[in-house]
Amino acid sequence: MHFLNFTPIAVLQLTLFSVLHGAKWTYTGPDGEHHWYKHYPYCGGTFQSPIDIKSELLRFDSNLRPIEVQNYNLSPNEQLTLGNNGHSVQISLPSKMHISSLPHRYTAAQFHLHWGSSSRPAGSEHTVNSEQYAAEMHVVHYNSDKYPNMSMAVDKSDGLAVLGVLIEVGEFNPAFEQFLKFINGVKYRDQRVQVPGFNIRALLPARLDEYYRYDGSLTTPPCYPSVLWTVFRNDVTISRKQFLALATALYSTHAQDSAPVPLNANYRQPQLTDGRVVLVSFKEGRGLHGTLTVTPPHTRKRIIQQLLVGDLADLADEGLYQLLPSGSEKLHAGKKKDLKNQQSETLAKSKQQMLNPSLWTKSQTNRYVGKFGLADDTLCYVSLEQRVFLRLRQSHTENQMVQALRDAVLPELNLKSYLDCKSDLALPTIRHILRGRPTDEALELDRSLTQALMKQRKTSTAIKPNVPVTKSSSLSPATVPRKPQSLGYPHPWLLPMEWED
Ligand SMILES: [Zn+2]
Repeated sequence: MHFLNFTPIAVLQLTLFSVLHGAKWTYTGPDGEHHWYKHYPYCGGTFQSPIDIKSELLRFDSNLRPIEVQNYNLSPNEQLTLGNNGHSVQISLPSKMHISSLPHRYTAAQFHLHWGSSSRPAGSEHTVNSEQYAAEMHVVHYNSDKYPNMSMAVDKSDGLAVLGVLIEVGEFNPAFEQFLKFINGVKYRDQRVQVPGFNIRALLPARLDEYYRYDGSLTTPPCYPSVLWTVFRNDVTISRKQFLALATALYSTHAQDSAPVPLNANYRQPQLTDGRVVLVSFKEGRGLHGTLTVTPPHTRKRIIQQLLVGDLADLADEGLYQLLPSGSEKLHAGKKKDLKNQQSETLAKSKQQMLNPSLWTKSQTNRYVGKFGLADDTLCYVSLEQRVFLRLRQSHTENQMVQALRDAVLPELNLKSYLDCKSDLALPTIRHILRGRPTDEALELDRSLTQALMKQRKTSTAIKPNVPVTKSSSLSPATVPRKPQSLGYPHPWLLPMEWED
């Protein structure tokens, strides 16, 4: 997704940003997505988007309310700006439009699209069980309860909420025609036209109660992990003619450029999940049988509390399953009886903790979260980047910068996301928490965890590589997809921790 608006301030900030970062980027070639991290370190960081929404990542969450949008039905008297920013086609939205069903008010800023090419109608960013759709629409909103505008919100961990709509080639879509009919007016980069308002709600699928939810990032530089993602379960269709208009009408170059470059295949590859899970608001349907239910927040808080002040020897011995990613209970399948005993033991212990307010209070967990830098539940990525950059100034290389940012950000994001039920607990996070504990016990727990995770990884990496397939193959045979991101094995995080320091 894109965050930039066509306001003078945003253009000025973009210029400033480009000067600071030397920031030309494309989807292929020497400035393609595998090089983005050199100028935009967060693109090589953690909690990135898009992802492949795989069945095994899904967790049913009964607390997910239907998405409610307000003032989406715009009158034809309201003029909207349709523009080509060289990376996508984008429409600016009035600030009265907002999402009202999230914990904060998220005000709409713009929507834009990602799509394939005329020879390969597969250009969605999110994929579902490796299936790629023809295109994808992103309606971008910012947290207007906490931030005055998009630019202030874009690098905050609770800054943005994006509605993602998967698009297939099929029936003609009259709502999409409302702006596609003007697309020849913005053939070249930085061109804009005014278009009459229309019902933006009609661009979304009929059902707003069925969706996937996860914590992720902008899918374009600077890739800040600041997005609360909602990807609707049901797709919408556009006709083949409408898709071809999108795929062939636009150029990523300026009108005066002597070598015009077509604007298509503007999608990013699926990113690593980094311990994240995908919450689902629905339970019925193909492939959903046996979907796990999300572990409630109070259980998660109790686990963090146990890591902070509980008996570590016990955790290393029998409570290991609590710390492993959800679904890994099968590792202990042979020890069902032990588990039961242990669960009641844990329950007894947590009751004991409940009785002791100094051990088990909301504020203590919050204080701890605060220690990570999550004051007011927010992370500011620009300042984190600056901190890491300053530390690395003397010896830094691009890779070190990316790795250091990843190491700095993952435990904080993972803990926040874990307490929100949107991640499994990652090993680096557990190690961060254990830093304050007696070394021998922490070391023992770390060793047991590393071994258990290694074992788990061996069984799960036996499954196929992640190569997207084409959802709609109606236009022509699919060309060879781009190389998927390789998974390093063993991951450095799985190496046993050194506890000397
Ligand atoms: Zn987008």
